Amino acid sequence: MGGHVRVAVIGSGFGGLGAAVRLRREGVIDFVVLERADAVGGTWRDNSYPGCACDVPSHLYSFSFAPHPDWPRTFSGQEHIRGYLEHVADAFRIRPHLRLGSEVTRMRWDGERLRWELEVNGAPALTADVVVSATGPLSEPRIPRVPGLDDFPGAVFHSARWDHGYDLRGKRVAVVGTGASAIQIVPAVQPDVARLTLFQRTPPWVLPRTDRAITAAERWLHRHLPLTAKARRGLLWGIRELQVQAFTKRPNELGLVERLAARNMARAVKDPALRRRLTPSYRIGCKRILLSSTYYPALARPNVDVVAAGLAEVRGSTVVGADGSTAEVDAIVFGTGFHVTDMPVAERVVGAGGHTLAESWSDGMAALRGATAAGFPNFMTVIGPNTGLGNSSMILMIESQLNYLADYLRRLDALGAPGGRVALDARTSAVAAWNRAVQERMKRTVWNTGGCTSWYLDAQGRNTTVWPGTTTEFRAATRRVDLAEYDVIRAAGARSSAQKKAEAGA
Ligand SMILES: Cc1cc2nc3c(=O)[nH]c(=O)nc-3n(C[C@H](O)[C@H](O)[C@H](O)COP(=O)(O)OP(=O)(O)OC[C@H]3O[C@@H](n4cnc5c(N)ncnc54)[C@H](O)[C@@H]3O)c2cc1C
Repeated sequence: MGGHVRVAVIGSGFGGLGAAVRLRREGVIDFVVLERADAVGGTWRDNSYPGCACDVPSHLYSFSFAPHPDWPRTFSGQEHIRGYLEHVADAFRIRPHLRLGSEVTRMRWDGERLRWELEVNGAPALTADVVVSATGPLSEPRIPRVPGLDDFPGAVFHSARWDHGYDLRGKRVAVVGTGASAIQIVPAVQPDVARLTLFQRTPPWVLPRTDRAITAAERWLHRHLPLTAKARRGLLWGIRELQVQAFTKRPNELGLVERLAARNMARAVKDPALRRRLTPSYRIGCKRILLSSTYYPALARPNVDVVAAGLAEVRGSTVVGADGSTAEVDAIVFGTGFHVTDMPVAERVVGAGGHTLAESWSDGMAALRGATAAGFPNFMTVIGPNTGLGNSSMILMIESQLNYLADYLRRLDALGAPGGRVALDARTSAVAAWNRAVQERMKRTVWNTGGCTSWYLDAQGRNTTVWPGTTTEFRAATRRVDLAEYDVIRAAGARSSAQKKAEAGA
């Protein structure tokens, strides 16, 4: 076993890097960031498909503590966001803490010594008082099991594992899926491919994307008068905050937005039969609302076929839709999303009772304030259950969770001083109460009532991914750790008066 640290952070996307910066700011320098890949960046390292860009404006989709006056576009592309995260790693001196090429394969809670034992790349590697799991909500690609796919003679890849060695130009390509990634890929590759067959199980609602270059004058202003960048961020945030009520309490108000999306389609798609195939039958917002001003024009081009059915089978080089339609193709691109409600890292975390987090979540994921689970002391998930957003920046949620992490560490220090070992374990009753309240609020939301099935819902149909409120509410709920929601576990030995005083004052 190679050493002990105060905190082990897993992952180096926005969540892991954000946690690292926050730890340093809290004066914690005894930590490592374990990343399985050979570079930082998470989502923005792995998703390099043509057309990849954020769909929340860059001035909001960035850290509040690391403003970037030079965003080139209102919705910046993947390369620029990745560069931003590399810059954050340098500017906040995170590199010395990074251990790249380090995949955490197992974690086990040692209840005697009150610490986590971590295996990296299959071998015991280190121990940590606290584990911050920032392995990403959308980081494990999901490819559906399609009969015959293994025998397909052409190229097959997922949007998040783009094969840059394969030249799509002049090829016949099947794109499977019509989610956020697929609708960026289709217009980016359509002009170059010979034929594009799009398999669409359910059509998305697509609003126009108001993307434009940020002018040199705007950038100058943001650089020299940082308040202007702050105001811009505030405005972007405020607008989205006001929209939340319609998603969570009054889905009927979304009818107007549906009309905007319908107009976006009608402008580009003149063929009534194609329009019918592309028109959703569920309330807008039930699935993630997508943004594109180029998707529908691409679908209307003569080299594109929209199959209004999923991919059912592959026979040699022929792809077969669930509606029986067929096409000969050279390559299949899966834009079929990620393992979301079955968080893969959960199988690798063995808690106090000897069972895994995945076993404890067999009826669905649940975590106190999106962060901690009963029986898994000093283990915190960044972007845990019910912290996702339908309409705003995930960075806001990550930063709120980092407030919670900072307070959690302060509590541990106060309870454990001087030198005593202590851990916090979320009470089963507290997790259940939090989860009940979240699910109660969920009942009225568009995600649960809008008439669709989506990746927000788990196998039981429960929404374990989205936060049913504003980011302000979440920030308030995660400002401080409420010790009444935790059991304080101590290593064998007497409690000092300083410890008792800290508990009494908490
Ligand atoms: C194409 C795409 C576009 C998106 N656009 C937006 C947007 O516009 N706005 C928005 O709010 N959100 C967007 N998202 C959601 C996005 O995932 C989050 O905003 C955010 O980037 C997640 O950061 P993260 O650090 O939690 O996870 P990730 O960025 O996924 O990082 C997780 C990291 O953990 C590492 N890891 C995983 N398991 C292990 C392990 N066992 N051991 C070691 N390392 C491990 C991974 O390699 C990865 O580097 C988008 C997602 C995708 C896929």
